Amino acid sequence: MKEKTVEQDHYRASEWGQGFFRIDGEGFLRVFPRGDDEHSVKLQSVVENLAQTHVDTPLVVRFPQILLSRQKRIRDAFLTAIDEYGYQATYQGVFPVKVNHNRIVVDTLVQGGKDHDFGLEVGSKAELCLGLTYDLSSGAFLVCNGFKDRAYLRLACLASQAGRPILLIAENPQEVSDIIEIGESVGHMPMLGFRARLHAQGSGRWLESSGHKGKFGLSTMAILEGMEAVKRAGFASRLVALHFHIGSQVSDILNIKRAIKEASRLFAAMKQKAPSLRVLDLGGGMGVDYDGSRTATDWSVNYSIEEYARDAVYMVKEICDEAEVSAPILVSESGRALCASHAVFVLSSLRVIGEHESRDYTHHRTTANQIDDLKATLSEVNESNFREAVHDATQLLNELLSGFRLGYVTMDERAVGECLYRDICTKVRSLMIVEHKRTDDLVDLEKQLAPKVVCNFSVFMSAPDSWAVQQLFPICPLARADESRRWAATIGDITCDSDGKLDRFIGKRGVEPYIRLPEPVEGEPYHVGMFLTGAYQDVLGDYHNLFGTVNEVVVELDEENKPHIKTVVDAATVEHSLEQFGFSFSELAQRFMKVEGLEDGGGIDSTYQDAFFKVLKGNTYLNKI
Ligand SMILES: *Cc1c(COP(=O)(O)O)cnc(C)c1O
Repeated sequence: MKEKTVEQDHYRASEWGQGFFRIDGEGFLRVFPRGDDEHSVKLQSVVENLAQTHVDTPLVVRFPQILLSRQKRIRDAFLTAIDEYGYQATYQGVFPVKVNHNRIVVDTLVQGGKDHDFGLEVGSKAELCLGLTYDLSSGAFLVCNGFKDRAYLRLACLASQAGRPILLIAENPQEVSDIIEIGESVGHMPMLGFRARLHAQGSGRWLESSGHKGKFGLSTMAILEGMEAVKRAGFASRLVALHFHIGSQVSDILNIKRAIKEASRLFAAMKQKAPSLRVLDLGGGMGVDYDGSRTATDWSVNYSIEEYARDAVYMVKEICDEAEVSAPILVSESGRALCASHAVFVLSSLRVIGEHESRDYTHHRTTANQIDDLKATLSEVNESNFREAVHDATQLLNELLSGFRLGYVTMDERAVGECLYRDICTKVRSLMIVEHKRTDDLVDLEKQLAPKVVCNFSVFMSAPDSWAVQQLFPICPLARADESRRWAATIGDITCDSDGKLDRFIGKRGVEPYIRLPEPVEGEPYHVGMFLTGAYQDVLGDYHNLFGTVNEVVVELDEENKPHIKTVVDAATVEHSLEQFGFSFSELAQRFMKVEGLEDGGGIDSTYQDAFFKVLKGNTYLNKI
């Protein structure tokens, strides 16, 4: 059944939703996980169903079918381009597991790619161990990147000897000699690749991670020396791949084109000296259009998956043809582009703070002149003088506050002054809105007056990049998203940290310091979704204030459009969060008893004891009161 979409897409879901998220004609956010228009589910009903089984927000909802749709789309893009340009080799994807280590994610992608030689990319010993537990097809690649010690290299060599499809990438000159040494001692050399340090850089937030000053990769001279060294050691035939990675979320296709061109030239030149080369690994970096603007700004991209694939195939082919070398297998390590859209973080509002209500302040005794002036300003403000009124009010309030510090303005006066100031700003805002003056002044005022919707979550656990790198994630209410009457608000979390907030949003005119949300209705559930959180957020999240991991569910839609909802992870308990920091449950229990003197026969109030253990065994987030 086709769903009608909303007429006025206030939240621009059609632009960032990649077809997976849309607002329907009744203002509900719908998810289309199968990548078609026929199967969809209201996220609000998923959340309500779960609440009945006591699986509450905050909640991560994962859609494995979205992962499969993305995996297919990236592969199809390359295969179509390969067909179109008559490219003489194949394409194989690998999933860089650092983007999301969740079992459901890795399992789904490995399973989804098993007929297409889809592989994995790992960058540490822990990730290598994970990678080795998957039975990848022999034609797939298990790409080993990152800094490596002897144990890492030895395990990689032994795994390769045992038949695992290891592609070991040397990231720096030292690693080339370490690999040779350990390969010799094990008596087996895996397939080898060199990571090139390209001159071309990424763009956007991770610009610095590439270029000739980057942390990773072999310089041109080191590649030449490395090829020599491998040859001298008798492993020339094991050198099969050239790899590069210019950073994540590359927002401008021009940077990608430059890098692929440079890498293709290198590949062609190396191939003349090392005929065994047959793989060009393009790394990751394919970006996600988080704000839906289709621009080369940090949280957007100015290209599609299809354009990326066409450019890659075309340029590699052109350069290889020109150099008369055979075209390599193309490998890409797109992680963010594959994963970001599969997870939605659902949060619910607890209360609204900072909402301005006009107060009756006539009975407070005030003598300060500034109060009289503020009252006059309030009564005289109109369409022609509102700018001046805000300036006057700001100055008068500042005077009152200095007076308070110096001791000659009373607490009552300060209180009345603050109320008058808010009244003036509120009145000016309404004048400006009526006049349709959407100036920067109004944006500032809206920001000042915006109430904070406090939601039951921790930014640090569930959306760490919005704090760490000012990443923008689209946010949209799950219901009533079609209402035109909305108020400007910001979102606060429940950590005791003033950074625990969301105050940069995707607005109609780019990034705005507030989001327009439907006004909460007393007694009605109020859920807001944070979208495209499926890449990097899970593993980067931390335990600030000991708020722990949240409930996680997996949702799949069958042919009949029936949703199947499974809980996969229960939210961490207080006990679990404390355990991360060295306090085991038994020790905590013991200490608690000791403090209470129970050990030396002292009495303990059992009500207190019960309360302690109940909280210890409970959720770290707030329960409904
Ligand atoms: C992080 C990383 C990736 C994944 O990058 P995305 O931007 O998520 O596609 C791929 N390859 C390497 C070597 C990486 O370090």
